[in-house]
Amino acid sequence: MFEQLKPVPTDPILGLMSEYKADTNPKKVDLSVGVYKNETGDTPVMRAVKKAEQIRLETETTKSYLGLAGDVQYNELMTSLVFGDHATVKANRIKTAQTPGGTGSLRVAAEFIKRSNPNASIWVTNPTWANHFSIFGAAGLETKEFPYFDFDTMGLKFDEMVSTLNTVPAGDVVLLHACCHNPSGMDLTLEQWQIVADISKKQGFTFLIDSAYQGFGKGLDEDAAGVRLLADQLDELLVCASCSKNFGLYRDRVGAFSVMTATAEQTEIAYSVALNVIRAIYSMPPAHGAAVVANILSNPELRALWEEELQEKRTRINGLRSYIVEKFKEHNVPGNFDFIAKQNGMFSFLGIDKEAIQTLKDDYSIYIVGSSRINVAGVNKSNADYLAKALATVLNK
Ligand code: PMP
Repeated sequence: MFEQLKPVPTDPILGLMSEYKADTNPKKVDLSVGVYKNETGDTPVMRAVKKAEQIRLETETTKSYLGLAGDVQYNELMTSLVFGDHATVKANRIKTAQTPGGTGSLRVAAEFIKRSNPNASIWVTNPTWANHFSIFGAAGLETKEFPYFDFDTMGLKFDEMVSTLNTVPAGDVVLLHACCHNPSGMDLTLEQWQIVADISKKQGFTFLIDSAYQGFGKGLDEDAAGVRLLADQLDELLVCASCSKNFGLYRDRVGAFSVMTATAEQTEIAYSVALNVIRAIYSMPPAHGAAVVANILSNPELRALWEEELQEKRTRINGLRSYIVEKFKEHNVPGNFDFIAKQNGMFSFLGIDKEAIQTLKDDYSIYIVGSSRINVAGVNKSNADYLAKALATVLNK
């Protein structure tokens, strides 16, 4: 029967990654994949992680099964990291399960939504992280888009977004990014979070928040402010968190799925459904990465070190955003790129066309995904002039 299968094209970003690896140009620049890079272009293991791993090596006593929900201490610590010292947490209305990465969490969320309402549609920002479509599609849910990013102003289409959300019915789910929107870098202000919270109260739809970059935008608490506002005011909420970026644990697959309902009793029931969903997908999550996160978050010294390292990353990204705008001005790149300095997290769109993106790759070995999304952290002091000059030449052609 396997002869019936048709080849599936490689994910465009992963394809670019392989091309970049094979490229022998010493000046090559990779702005494609969403991985944090330091000034030398590397993604080293965080020092706090190394220390926590050392402790774990010495103190781990068993490799026996972990259980469907994963590491219980990790789940509690992640609940506080995402929701803070929140009344809803204290009222036992939120429960969290450890998952294999943010992707695993989203897949659990998809199956959980399907159990809650088999006819639910998931509304996602236009544009959004491409994998959202695959994950919800794989669970048999229909995905619909609402206006979000405006390529004319390189800002939000907030009014259009509000008009569409005002038509979303009860029983549907609206997915928002907690912070550092991937791919646009454009986040809602707290006032805008309040407006969408009010629409959900009126319409009765449920929010699912994808939180993959907490700590990469303005700060750990600041980046969770939207989630916490929703948790404060709404009866129901789902949050899918990832520790891939903020703990640099990409390949160790660390994530968390949180469910909030109107009462502690209802949350117990919802949680039992989530665990049942997990049992049928991967049974239980891998232990190592989450244990490392739990070690860090529960040990004041390691936590302080981790927060310091995270702040270094955040400061570097925010500094780079202004630096890129300066360099583009210095080299007369045509157009106004001031918006880059105003956006959050690792990503922004350059807003250049496919032909320019192709020429940048073919003639300069500068790798940018087809949508013109760049990973800001791929820029550094050694490649910024090269990038700006190449862009100026290509766009002035
Ligand atoms: N959501 C968004 C918006 C992301 O950008 C990513 C990572 N690229 C994820 C979820 C999933 O992350 P993970 O690697 O933890 O599965």
